[in-house]
Amino acid sequence: TVSVYGYGGGIIPRFSEVGKSFPESKEFHTLRVQPPAGNFYSTAMLRQLGDSWEKYGSGLVTFHGQTGNIMFIGATTENTQHFFDEINEYGWDLGGAGPCVRTAMSCVGAARCGMSCAHEHGIHRHLVNNFTDDVHRPALPYKFKFKVSGCPNDCQNAIERSDFAVIGTWRDDMKVNQDEIKNYVKKKGRQYILDNVIARCPTQAISLTDNDEFVVDNHNCVRCMHCLNVMPKALHPGDDKGVTILIGGKRTLKIGDLMGTVVVPFMKLETEEDYEKIVEMGEEIIGFWAENGLEHERTGEMIERIGLVNFLEGIGIDVDPHMVNYPRQSSYVRMDGWDEEAEKWFEKKREEKQTASA
Ligand code: SF4
Ligand code: SF4
Repeated sequence: TVSVYGYGGGIIPRFSEVGKSFPESKEFHTLRVQPPAGNFYSTAMLRQLGDSWEKYGSGLVTFHGQTGNIMFIGATTENTQHFFDEINEYGWDLGGAGPCVRTAMSCVGAARCGMSCAHEHGIHRHLVNNFTDDVHRPALPYKFKFKVSGCPNDCQNAIERSDFAVIGTWRDDMKVNQDEIKNYVKKKGRQYILDNVIARCPTQAISLTDNDEFVVDNHNCVRCMHCLNVMPKALHPGDDKGVTILIGGKRTLKIGDLMGTVVVPFMKLETEEDYEKIVEMGEEIIGFWAENGLEHERTGEMIERIGLVNFLEGIGIDVDPHMVNYPRQSSYVRMDGWDEEAEKWFEKKREEKQTASA
């Protein structure tokens, strides 16, 4: 294996079987380097990285690999350390490889996108900075990924590709600019809007009035983003923004692909305290999985094996009817014993209210 001092991961060793015939391919290791949040680079950063890689590596780079890392492909064992030392000196760090917390990813978000409902890059940095040790020293059952998308469009594919998906959302009413709606109707025609926006709302939560105004049944809108994507000038997320957290998404391994399961339907992420809460939740989940996961078992697979109720109990989260198993579809809260459970729920809400006003 190949590594740099103090680290247990971040390098994919490659030794060639045809090294005798092609000496330059003899040692051709890949270094995974963590990208900046949102993948924003300055030209100065790129030049600096390029210069170091020309000095110590093959010059071949992938922006970015499937893992989200910058992949510096082709260094000898000796130069792996030199390259790392140099880029680390001016601020870059290796990403994860092996059974550890992997390199986190976030969408371009608020920096460039009008749909953003969260401070994607702040969330990304809080999580990554807290779990740096777990990135560099593989000691977990298998890989664990954090991904952050600023809205339910989920440009990072966080729900299907990460163990801990943070998705920006809103809980008040969608913002509607009726003048812009009229402009869309004028430009595209009524029939087009009816066929392509109104009829395609999965919960039939929107209608178009005779004078070309939008009426949104916000209570039944499931934040699928379709209408906002088609009419971005007229429709925007509301003001009461926060995030939804889904756990256990992954590609095929022990069992087939899994989408993340909603574990926190909505939480605000504004104060330092809120950020501490999300980091603590990450610690709780990773700690529970580290103790209960089998070797080579992702969190989603562990949840399937031990049952969601045991998982929620293990991480200390109460069941909430807003939790859904399949995003946008079904609540996983069972309806038997409903009256009793409803009474418990209202009791809990009463207590929360009393504590808040005390
Ligand atoms: S996930 Fe949402 S906020 Fe992020 S880039 Fe995509 S559309 Fe924009
Ligand atoms: S976001 Fe989706 S669910 Fe909500 S109103 Fe628009 S199309 Fe319907």
